[in-house]
This record gives sequence, C-alpha cells and structure tokens, in this order.
Amino acid sequence: MKRLEDKIAIITGSARGIGFGIAEKYAKEGAHVIIIDLFAEGVETAVAKLKENGFSAEGFAADVSNSEQIAEIFKEIFNTHKKIDILVNNAGITRDGLLMKMKESDWDMVMNVNLKGTFICTQKVCRYMMKKRVGAIINIASVIGLMGNAGQANYAASKGGIIAFTKSAAKEFASRNIRVNAVAPGFIETEMTKKLPEDVVEGYAKAIPLNKMGSIENIADCCVFLASDESSYITGQTIQVDGGLIM
Ligand code: NAP
Repeated sequence: MKRLEDKIAIITGSARGIGFGIAEKYAKEGAHVIIIDLFAEGVETAVAKLKENGFSAEGFAADVSNSEQIAEIFKEIFNTHKKIDILVNNAGITRDGLLMKMKESDWDMVMNVNLKGTFICTQKVCRYMMKKRVGAIINIASVIGLMGNAGQANYAASKGGIIAFTKSAAKEFASRNIRVNAVAPGFIETEMTKKLPEDVVEGYAKAIPLNKMGSIENIADCCVFLASDESSYITGQTIQVDGGLIM
C-alpha cells in the first residue's frame, strides 16, 4: 500500500521547483495531485509531465493571493472529488532589498503571496476538510523565518508569520482532526541556486553541518511524512530540513 493512496492533494506554486517535486513525490505515493500555479502554460506542462509518467494529476491557473479565484477552484475540486485530503501551501516569492531602501510595493507583494496566500488557501480548504473531519495542511516556511537575513526583511517576516500562523491554525483545527504543520527548508538546490557561482555555493555549504546543500527531494520526503498517517500525532510543528544549519 502506498503512503498517500487515493488522497486528493492540492499543491500551490507547483508548476516547477520544490512544489513540482512535492507533487511528483505525492503522485508516486498514490495521490491524485492538483497543481496550482500562476500561469496556464506552466500548469499544463507540469500536469502533462506527471501524466506521461502514469500519474493522476490535474491543474488550475490561479493566484494564491486572490481569494475569489481560490474559493471557486477549491469548490470545483471538492464537487468533483467529494473530498480534499491534503493542502501544501508552497507558492512563495522573494523581492529582496535592504530595509532602508525597500519599496512598500515589494513588502506588500511578498506578504500578499507568501503569508496572505497561505491564509487564503487554508481558510478556503478548511471547510471541506472539516466536513470530512480529516486533513493535513503543510505550509512551506524557510529557515530565514527563524533566523532572519539581511536584505530579506519582507521574506523573513512572511515566513516567520507562516510559522506562527501554522501554530494558531493547528490549535483551531485539532478538534476536527485536521493537522497543520510547517516545513522550513534551508539552502536547497533549485534552478535559482544552480545559477550561483561555485565559490558562493561552497561558502554556504561550509556553514551547514552536513556540509552540502539540500535537494528538492529532501523537502518532498518531509512533506510526504507530514501528509501521511505516519505523522498522525504531529501538529503545529515546524520541521527544519536544513542539514543542521540552525539548532
Ligand atoms: P520557485 O522555483 O520560484 O517556484 C515557486 C512557484 O510558485 C513558481 O512556479 C511560481 O510561478 C509560483 N508562484 C509565485 N507566485 C504565485 C502566486 N501568487 N500564486 C500561485 N503560484 C505562484 O520557488 P522554490 O525555490 O521552488 O520555492 C518554493 C517554496 O519554498 C517557496 O515558498 C520558497 O519560499 C520556499 N523555500 C525555498 C528555498 C530554496 O532554497 N529554494 C529555501 C527555503 C524556502 P512563476 O514561475 O510564474 O513565478
């Protein structure tokens, strides 16, 4: 028996990167995965890739910070599948800059997508999970939300907010058997970080006790655990997947 057999799983920001890695792993574990991302083209490509490998998938183009769009899509998903078991709030952006010079629009944009988007998707999904009295919500935070980072005040605040939000939602939903946890990735090898010069990457790696960058698979493995019954007594937690960067 696969670990997520017959589960209906929504993953936001999953046309590429960590989100797509989570979708792929969930699909391998038997879930029907629903890709949500900004643009239709990316969504279609991601769904096609999953289907080519024999997995069960569908997708919707939407902005996680648009509550009307999300409400409509989640309603359609529930009407089709009669349940929603898993939500991964993964969509996230950066608009880096030193605090003194940070534009309000960059602050607002990061807060809207990362923190408000997590709130909107959680609020819109919880009514369907409550109906079935079961659910797992996983919020992708970041170690930056725990330790801060120069040039990322907006991003750090949004990710720290996600960690606090996770605890509050876990307390509200526990009596309905809905678990809410967060994953805080450290320095992960993605398309973005592959472009960094080798010496910069080596410098980061030196600060990590396990002495290497993490992989998308490392994050996806943790997300499978938090979505599966193996973590049925875990809620309100933030699991760092960071090679020991923060202890
Ligand atoms: P990524 O490669 O940039 O992928 C993020 C995806 O989210 C993209 O497909 C993006 O679409 C989509 N997205 C952006 N805004 C959206 C919105 N408003 N609504 C719906 N989808 C939206 O990022 P990643 O590196 O995989 O990171 C995924 C998550 O992990 C993020 O929350 C990030 O903060 C977190 N994280 C990453 C690292 C790391 O080292 N990479 C470390 C710690 C935490 P577009 O391509 O169209 O923009």
